[in-house]
Amino acid sequence: TKSVFRFGGGSADGDASQRDLLGGKGANLAEMAGIGLPVPPGLTIATSVCAAFYDAGGKLPDDVKADTLAALAHVEQVTGKTFGDAADPLLVSVRSGARVSMPGMMDTVLNLGLNDVTVEGLARASGNPRFAWDSYRRFIQMYGDVVLELDHYLFEDALEIAKEDRGVTLDTELTAEDLQGLVARYKAIVAENWGDAFPQDPHEQLWGAIGAVFGSWRSDRARTYRRLNDIPESWGTAVTVQAMVFGNRGDTSATGVAFTRDPANGERVTYGEYLINAQGEDVVAGIRTPQYLTKAARERAGARAASMEEAMPVVFAELAKVFALLETHYRDMQDIEFTVEDGRLWMLQTRSGKRTAKAALKIAVDMASEGLITEAEAVLRVEAGALDQLLHPTLDPHAPRDVITRGLPASPGAASGAVVFDSDTAEARAKMGDAVILVRTETSPEDIHGMHAARGILTARGGMTSHAAVVARGMGRPCVSGAGSISIDLTARTMRVGNRMIGEGDRITLDGTTGEVMVGEVATVEPELAGDFGLLMEWADKHRRLKVRTNAETPADCRTARGFGAEGIGLCRTEHMFFEPSRITSVRRMILAEDGAGRASALAELLPEQRADFARIFREMAGLPVTIRLLDPPLHEFLPHDEAGFADVAEATGLSVGTVRRRIAELHEFNPMLGHRGCRLGITYPEIYAMQARAIFEAAVAVAKDTGEAVVPEVMVPLVATARELEITKAAIDAEARAVFAETGRTLDYMVGTMIELPRAALRAAEIAEFAEFFSFGTNDLTQTALGISRDDASRFLGVYVEQGIYPRDPFVGIDEEGVGELVQIATDRGRAARPGLKLGICGEHGGDPASIAFCERLGLDYVSCSPYRVPIARLAAAQAAL
Ligand code: ADP
Ligand code: MG
Ligand code: MG
Repeated sequence: TKSVFRFGGGSADGDASQRDLLGGKGANLAEMAGIGLPVPPGLTIATSVCAAFYDAGGKLPDDVKADTLAALAHVEQVTGKTFGDAADPLLVSVRSGARVSMPGMMDTVLNLGLNDVTVEGLARASGNPRFAWDSYRRFIQMYGDVVLELDHYLFEDALEIAKEDRGVTLDTELTAEDLQGLVARYKAIVAENWGDAFPQDPHEQLWGAIGAVFGSWRSDRARTYRRLNDIPESWGTAVTVQAMVFGNRGDTSATGVAFTRDPANGERVTYGEYLINAQGEDVVAGIRTPQYLTKAARERAGARAASMEEAMPVVFAELAKVFALLETHYRDMQDIEFTVEDGRLWMLQTRSGKRTAKAALKIAVDMASEGLITEAEAVLRVEAGALDQLLHPTLDPHAPRDVITRGLPASPGAASGAVVFDSDTAEARAKMGDAVILVRTETSPEDIHGMHAARGILTARGGMTSHAAVVARGMGRPCVSGAGSISIDLTARTMRVGNRMIGEGDRITLDGTTGEVMVGEVATVEPELAGDFGLLMEWADKHRRLKVRTNAETPADCRTARGFGAEGIGLCRTEHMFFEPSRITSVRRMILAEDGAGRASALAELLPEQRADFARIFREMAGLPVTIRLLDPPLHEFLPHDEAGFADVAEATGLSVGTVRRRIAELHEFNPMLGHRGCRLGITYPEIYAMQARAIFEAAVAVAKDTGEAVVPEVMVPLVATARELEITKAAIDAEARAVFAETGRTLDYMVGTMIELPRAALRAAEIAEFAEFFSFGTNDLTQTALGISRDDASRFLGVYVEQGIYPRDPFVGIDEEGVGELVQIATDRGRAARPGLKLGICGEHGGDPASIAFCERLGLDYVSCSPYRVPIARLAAAQAAL
């Protein structure tokens, strides 16, 4: 099978659809070359070779080598230059590229093919010795770092010394002679530290670089990145070898990166940076402060250095046309790398640009309005889980802020936390539950784990397209970059901003939307949900089949959830109401009672309280369905566990401390999760459920009478394992309903149903459905009971389990489709067969997880129920699952 693909010179072997084989970079280079854009010619070695390379112990198969050389000959033909030619050498870059972009995770080598002889040829042929020596010293530096695995500080130090010797601050101020001297120094560094002379044979260089790029797929940082982003090891990287074009040829040359829309807020403006007389990585690495692309951006930032639009108007106009063309062609926002060599534009990369949730939303809605994509496509463009970023509070604009400095607004959102200065500390403190802000001079791919652990990221150097900015946006972490007035002292573990000193552990706040950095914590406000957000949700609702309900038990939660579009309550946990300070004494008196009569008198005190709770919720939900779960947890959860607590309870209930202590000891359970809870309480202490049922029906009747709206309570019985349990409990509920209807002279529709949260219930769903009008899958308990894993004790091993692929994801976050999912499937099939029209929903944590929602859609459930803040996520995920 073909493993080397060519592009350039007016045609290409591949196209954008072949990212699996060519990697994203290679596929899009082929696509751009194919549609006639100016792309330096090259070849891509397929991702399939990556595995072959490792299998062969880190060597390229011979046929791949031969095909590579043949394709390189084609590049020579197109460019009219020869690889290794002493007079006018062809130079190439060797680039990595996986199926999905892994920014900065793998390696690239530029200017390959230079040696002591070809550098002279390049100097003569270009008439620009400074450029030739600059390219050679860059090549030795990159090759030394990437292929020979020498410490890059060795080269950086030598460069610093060279600049100091000349009394200059910028790389560009070094002359041809300086650079020639630096090359000699670099070669000495290689000889000393690698033990051999820098390889002079261009072909040896080429195989070395290709091997190193394949090798970088298994670097620690690439592995970490894959683990965090669920990217399989087996995908492998492709390697692209491409003719060099030079942005470092003088003042009519430049290199830059651009987004066709603003990746932070989605606005339709060209967004990006460039550097004159520089090569690729200089922009991202923050070697010099990059300049803006457009005049408008420069003016907005109040910057002085000329924008590309001003400094190179002709090429910029051409570039702007290419941007427009690429957007229309790909029908998405693009992230682009380009180089200008002596006034001529070259495209080096395009991909769909990473963006914040805010930008994703705006771009999707705008592109649909522009007619570039359909509404349904817009719905699919916004990652449901990422909406989370938009649904949480931002800094209160009116709260006092002690702003100590301002950097670039690199990734929006606000975060407060303790300052830490390195990624290991960030990770360690975050593990202990601390909110941390990672503060670095600049971040590198080695910081991925720390950035992930941190609430926000602050850097002293680097622009809007720096590593920190790109990665933070991808992760949804607020980030302020390039806050130049910060200086960090890593030994003292402090940072200084003007005359303010901040130590490790001190709290600061970042506003990634404005770039402000504040001392202390700043108050926050609720997000704005109108505009684009509302529109996208409307489109999503058109395509959605699953209903979305919420888990809520307070009027405030109900209001939030309705604001987010909840269509009812799927789970109202009544026990939460029992913890209210005004009730807990009655609850305890009920629990500690020695007999039914004692319980009944305590329950009589609770009845009006519960009735009022339910009435408030029915009012708030205004006719939408409300599922109320009867008391579920074991009773001792409501009791204290130490002597001081016993004394308090004795005093409040009027019982003796001895009695309290004895009753609590009697209630002790070895495994409460599987103990006296759920419907087992209702069966052993029928007064409890009777009181709750009465409260529900009295409240429903009262609110229906009051508001004229239909209230349809759905009474849900927890932890049912057998049909008989539900039969008994339902009879009691029905009796209470009849009594309330008789007393009030009003009736209303209601339902009685059950949770399916035990494997036995799933299996015996047919019998249970005889007594249940609805099933609600309590997938938290069902996961615990099906897997035999207690959620509270799982943390010790579940991480290792997921790492080793025993479970693909934490089964408490994403539903275990194979096991728990099969139980849900069985219960669905058997339940519906026994009772057509049986209403089915899910109310576990999984109800707000997009992948689990897609699973519910496939099963044909009627609704999902999740916490209020996840309601929009569920609405979008449900639409995406249906599309
Ligand atoms: P990454 O995936 O880390 O972005 P790239 O392969 O894109 O790595 O290369 C790093 C930098 O080198 C980019 O700025 C890119 O534009 C530049 N570059 C790569 N190949 C060439 C080339 N053939 N000519 C000029 N610049 C190049
Ligand atoms: Mg790149
Ligand atoms: Mg449960």
